[in-house]
Amino acid sequence: MKQIRPISLFVFSCIVSIGTLLLYNIPFFNYVAHNTNENTGGKIFLLTSLVVIMLMLNFMMTYLVMWILRMVGRILLAIFSLINATAVYFIITYSVMIDATTIENVFNTRYSEASGFFSWPLWLFIVACGVLPALYCLFQPVIIGKAKKMGIYCGSSLAIVLAIASMNINQTLWISQHDTELGGLLQPWSYVVNTCRVISSYHDEQAEEIKLPDGTITDHQKTVVVLVIGESARKANFQLYGYKRDTNPRLSKQKELKVYQATACATYTTAGTKAILEPINSDDLHELLPNYAFRTGVDVSWRTSNWGEPPIHIDEYLTDPELAALYPGESNAYDDILMKGLRERIESSKKNKVLIILHTSTSHGPKYADKYPKEFEVYKPVAKSIEEGEKNVGMLINAYDNTIRYTDFLLDSLINTLRAMKDWHSAMIFISDHGESLGENKLYMHGLPMRLAPKEQYEIPFLVWISDDFRTYKKTSSMQDAPAGKLPAVLEQHYVFHSVLNLLSIQSPAYNKDYDIFESDFHVAP
Ligand SMILES: [Zn+2]
Repeated sequence: MKQIRPISLFVFSCIVSIGTLLLYNIPFFNYVAHNTNENTGGKIFLLTSLVVIMLMLNFMMTYLVMWILRMVGRILLAIFSLINATAVYFIITYSVMIDATTIENVFNTRYSEASGFFSWPLWLFIVACGVLPALYCLFQPVIIGKAKKMGIYCGSSLAIVLAIASMNINQTLWISQHDTELGGLLQPWSYVVNTCRVISSYHDEQAEEIKLPDGTITDHQKTVVVLVIGESARKANFQLYGYKRDTNPRLSKQKELKVYQATACATYTTAGTKAILEPINSDDLHELLPNYAFRTGVDVSWRTSNWGEPPIHIDEYLTDPELAALYPGESNAYDDILMKGLRERIESSKKNKVLIILHTSTSHGPKYADKYPKEFEVYKPVAKSIEEGEKNVGMLINAYDNTIRYTDFLLDSLINTLRAMKDWHSAMIFISDHGESLGENKLYMHGLPMRLAPKEQYEIPFLVWISDDFRTYKKTSSMQDAPAGKLPAVLEQHYVFHSVLNLLSIQSPAYNKDYDIFESDFHVAP
């Protein structure tokens, strides 16, 4: 039998990379070509960039997998070929996207349900585009080569990918709007990444949080704290922080409202929300504020129109559709649904200590104009779509500023509701999960790593209102006459945990006085 001539790993990786592009990545480029709003020149530049990036990534993946795992690497590549072919067949035939939901469904499907999809054309397609490439990956003799070569080839591929990506940074907004579709059309990344996401979200749900030492409630005074977690609300566009527009007409008239300088610990929802709820900055999962308060005996309710929060273990967790069902006749189109029936909910509590957390989505992009009722469209014209916003940043900012005006209205109503509840000590804390880019340096949305993120993505509003005679505030070091026990000039999100513990009179070893914006005082008479 004639031996097949061995080839270098470089040539092998090139062949696999080009093969992957031609066999499995066409639907991805088809989608880009049909959905980008670039003119012909821009379209060619974008597509060429993506082709080069894909070739480099596929090359790098093949080279690394083969170099590190050898025979196991070959088997992996062969398995990828088979799954890629199957995925592409379903994408072409049924116009599906391979997103996290698809993967979850695949895991949860019984053979009897799935067998309906198997047909002769599918088998033929899998043999031609899956089995043959798989055999090639398994049996083509390859000379692996030295580590130095691997470093040079993979390093330069990565450099090229980063260089081209940075030339296309103005596409961030478009990509973030289409990320599910783009990711869902790209093999093998679609199912590899989404399988990891499904598994990690499963693990997150199961994750054992590090329990905090037990706490005790030290008085019986009726107390309610409403913590409002903002979504993508950035400090720069709040009138309260000096913005040129009157985006806070109502809150700026609330005399007792305190306005703190603050920065977020991260630029995306999951990490920002976790930082607001946890006692210390940590990669571990510590017992979160609602879980801890609930375990200590506080009546806790979580109301959300958002997602991406860390695991919450309480009895009352209500999404906006569930709230709409609870209050017939109310629509959950906007975030006011989160405050429906709130006063009755608090006053009917069987406990003296109540913690309400409202996880809003009011300034969530990119379609800001969809996030507020018509009467809050004060700044016009607004960008209705992302494409309009990219062409005219002013229109995008108009829409965004309207979401801040709507936030202003919601928080103001909330304060007025609490103030009217004379039998209760009450507090409202508003803090955002992270900020937002609105076209500065051609950046949009959020999510850049903290090292690279512009200040717009992490400078956040932090507003606190408390009812009369409830607690006294510490001064911040930026206040001229700050006495002993002062706060730093700029706060971070972990101040929420300790300040809320104080407001709810929870005495606990987990409490840290230095992170409390109120003077610590646990000796209130019962
Ligand atoms: Zn967010």
